[in-house]
Amino acid sequence: MGAGESGIGSAVLAKQKGYDVFVSDQSPIKEKYKTQLIEENIAFEEGKHTSDQILNAKEIIKSPGIPDKADIIKSALAKSIPVISEIEFAGRYTNAKKICITGSNGKTTTTLLTYHILKKAGYNVGLGGNVGKSFAMQVAKENFDYYVLELSSFQLDDMYDFKADIAVLLNITPDHLDRYEYKFENYVASKFRIIQNQSKESYFVYCADDEVLTNFMQKHKVVSTLVPFSIKKPIDGEGAFLTNNQITLNYKPNQPPLIMTIEKLALQGKHNVYNSMAASLVAKIVDVRKDIIRESLEDFRNAEHRLEFVATVNGIEFINDSKATNVNSTWYALESMVKPVIWVCGGQDKGNDYNELHDLVKQNVKAIICLGKDNKKIINAFKDVVELIVETDNAADAVATSYKIGKKGDVVLLSPACASFDLFKSYEDRGMQFKAAVRSL
Ligand code: ADP
Repeated sequence: MGAGESGIGSAVLAKQKGYDVFVSDQSPIKEKYKTQLIEENIAFEEGKHTSDQILNAKEIIKSPGIPDKADIIKSALAKSIPVISEIEFAGRYTNAKKICITGSNGKTTTTLLTYHILKKAGYNVGLGGNVGKSFAMQVAKENFDYYVLELSSFQLDDMYDFKADIAVLLNITPDHLDRYEYKFENYVASKFRIIQNQSKESYFVYCADDEVLTNFMQKHKVVSTLVPFSIKKPIDGEGAFLTNNQITLNYKPNQPPLIMTIEKLALQGKHNVYNSMAASLVAKIVDVRKDIIRESLEDFRNAEHRLEFVATVNGIEFINDSKATNVNSTWYALESMVKPVIWVCGGQDKGNDYNELHDLVKQNVKAIICLGKDNKKIINAFKDVVELIVETDNAADAVATSYKIGKKGDVVLLSPACASFDLFKSYEDRGMQFKAAVRSL
């Protein structure tokens, strides 16, 4: 179900394994994927779900974009047809070591960074899950020894027997609650599926500063080998921690620790210290040499739309953090700013609680430029702490207004804390339009 990157990969792998495969997508299927299905001789339909055929299946592999409450999935579940994710399915057919990364924020960054380190170390490694190419397609066509997989809670929800050799859980803050009956505990449980089926021989790399995480771990027995990281307190034994702007990474008692100063890291900001620690712990676990880890952390280039520097125009700096689609990621963005901020925010609200940003906004933000269809919630949340709040409904206006208000030494930060779908096709589209507007100032 769903003929995107993961669906096509699953179909190709299933066909290769001798299954009778049928692909169904409610929307038109992209040309490149259709060509692939035809080439591989796989039956498909687009623009509809034919329930007779679908409900005849022994097993359904579902795209993470399709919610369980979609009618066709409800019918399948009612008939007790197993519904699984691409990752669950492809996991059955590979003996490669699987490094799986999840969290509410920082997944893509940490996944790309981990992949970068392993690549640089010369490992035969694939990249998949929510980033890059389909994991299933790679299992069908490649022969990697390692996979670094970014997993969202939606993928984890449809995973049952899959086992991560190394699981990384970066943080858990409210997000996507609309898909979890507005119950935070459901979302937390979903994230913890990252360690299901793990044994003592598997590793669980996690943030020891995250109370949601540590509370859950106090209540539920975790059998995996624990590898914590923290920026608040020293860690005894295996793990990583920060003291005086230095990261200490301890792994294997008889080896000297790896020590790095954070000024040298390619990724700046507190949140990225966490991400860098997580990625380097994984690298240590799979025995990457220290000097390679150090070099990789220094020369890594992050993906677009994540605290991405755009340009400085007449002394006003513009930063594109369009990927910040929830309150927590915006918190880290605002926290890492050292100049007065003109904050461009808003969009489609996901049940946001803006209280968490109150203090930071009060300290750092001189003006708010709303970029959304409905900005009432933001205006109400901040009208007492920020004097100037302006509403806009397109990127060009948001940039022009920020520029007009801005003074030399200010920073204009697009970090919306909201999804983009009210005014844009995607967060990428929002970021691109923002950058284009800055470049044409
Ligand atoms: P994800 O794939 O989980 O959405 P990204 O790496 O794409 O995460 O980053 C998304 C947003 O979250 C960016 O705005 C980024 O600056 C912020 N961010 C990155 N890492 C963290 C972290 N560890 N904690 C909080 N926010 C983060």
